[in-house]
Amino acid sequence: MDTLQKLQLLGDQMTLEPAEESDSAPRPMGVANPHAVAACGHSPAELRRIFGNGESPGGADALAAITKGGGDPGSSLERKKNSLGIHNAVMPGGKRIPLLKTLLTSACERDCYYCPFRARRNFRRATFKPEEMASVFAQMNRAGVAEGLFLSSGIAGGGVRTQDRLLDSIDMLRHRHEFRGYVHLKIMPGAERDQVLRAMQLADRVSINLEAPNTERLRNLAPHKIFLEELLQPLKWADDIRRTLTPEKTFKGRWPSLVTQFVVGAVGESDLEILTTTSYLIRQLRLQRAYFSAFSPVPDTPLENHAPENPWREHRLYQASFLLRDYGFDLEDMPFLSTGHLPLDVDPKLGWARMNLSETPVEVNRAGRRELLRVPGIGPKGVDAIFQARRRGKLRELRDLQSLGVLAARAAPFILMDGRRPGHQLRLF
Ligand code: SF4
Repeated sequence: MDTLQKLQLLGDQMTLEPAEESDSAPRPMGVANPHAVAACGHSPAELRRIFGNGESPGGADALAAITKGGGDPGSSLERKKNSLGIHNAVMPGGKRIPLLKTLLTSACERDCYYCPFRARRNFRRATFKPEEMASVFAQMNRAGVAEGLFLSSGIAGGGVRTQDRLLDSIDMLRHRHEFRGYVHLKIMPGAERDQVLRAMQLADRVSINLEAPNTERLRNLAPHKIFLEELLQPLKWADDIRRTLTPEKTFKGRWPSLVTQFVVGAVGESDLEILTTTSYLIRQLRLQRAYFSAFSPVPDTPLENHAPENPWREHRLYQASFLLRDYGFDLEDMPFLSTGHLPLDVDPKLGWARMNLSETPVEVNRAGRRELLRVPGIGPKGVDAIFQARRRGKLRELRDLQSLGVLAARAAPFILMDGRRPGHQLRLF
């Protein structure tokens, strides 16, 4: 297999995550999670379609066609780019770039129960040498078809050796090919502290997927992974490194962001369990964000007959995690049911407000940041806008709030405006 054939095969296997930072819009049941990156960076949902597939459509000349410009119509060009694993992604900060998402190898010696790359599955695998990966990406970057790289790998020869090859790839890309753009690098289970440090010196974002919220749940999902030592420990090292070392030896002069992912609904874990761990990661390890991937069964895996998870559950977990990260909510504030799950039919912020603000609405002309952030329809930017507007005078009407970018109709049942409930104004919106 030549380099492009490998890239194309892996491109089929990495049709995932159209955005690094996209929002949490729910999907219909059975539609794969666009954020989904399972353990080690693979998608348990989207990759179902490749099982048993051989070559992808488009042929090994896809890169040549792209790099020449080819005169292709946009949709054809996009298809060819997608066939190589290049997808438009939203960067931290909002910029959109074409991001190559690929693997150093799709071979893996481990046997995670949900993963299409597990050792015992029979499908065509591809492996890059580090210099080959660095070179082909540099070529794509020079041709203007890929501006960022998301690089992961199956585990071959242990986590430490695999991590070394990932690091070598990015080191060559940064120093030999002088690539200064965006790199998201996976930390392999079992990587050592020095390797985490080196990854953080080279990448803009590093991630290690916990997959499950705790040791007990992981045992039923990925029995050969060790939750505390192999997965949580590297996340702890990453935060410790950011706290104790200066970033002067990093390629960009700053430390990368840190993210993780959970597979949701495969082993009976509750939302309370997932959000307990998420809250710890956000508060204690300054995690940038957690990704949640609703489980979707993969043929020829031990969980192939397990029912897929409702994507709305994933959506509610995203909403709850943003409340924990950006809105000052605590775990105790979440409207958990007796099962430990969040209700699927209501936004957790709205659920909290119905229980807590219906009888004691918030006066928008006097409330502090923390109180305002608890009101549905008001986010961090809305709070800033309200504070600025209050310096100019009183807010009296819902349209005053609406002009500030607040979802006024959503906020109306839970606020007072100059001492009055604005509910009668709802019909205006
Ligand atoms: S260790 Fe291997 S089997 Fe497990 S999630 Fe990663 S790639 Fe899949």
